[in-house]
Amino acid sequence: MSTYPVTCPTCFEEFEVALPSPEETPCEVDYDCEVCCRPMWIAFECDDDAEVTAWARGLGD
Ligand SMILES: [Zn+2]
Repeated sequence: MSTYPVTCPTCFEEFEVALPSPEETPCEVDYDCEVCCRPMWIAFECDDDAEVTAWARGLGD
């Protein structure tokens, strides 16, 4: 399973999240930071090359 680095919006540490398959995107999941355990949303999106990318945002954004 491939992973993608995201930056926590709370502690700004980077960690890897497991990527869903391209057919499952776009989607958003709630996730707890692996460093500070704060909740966040992680959005997954598929680009034109069928590469899935991810980014994180805080719950309040
Ligand atoms: Zn964090």
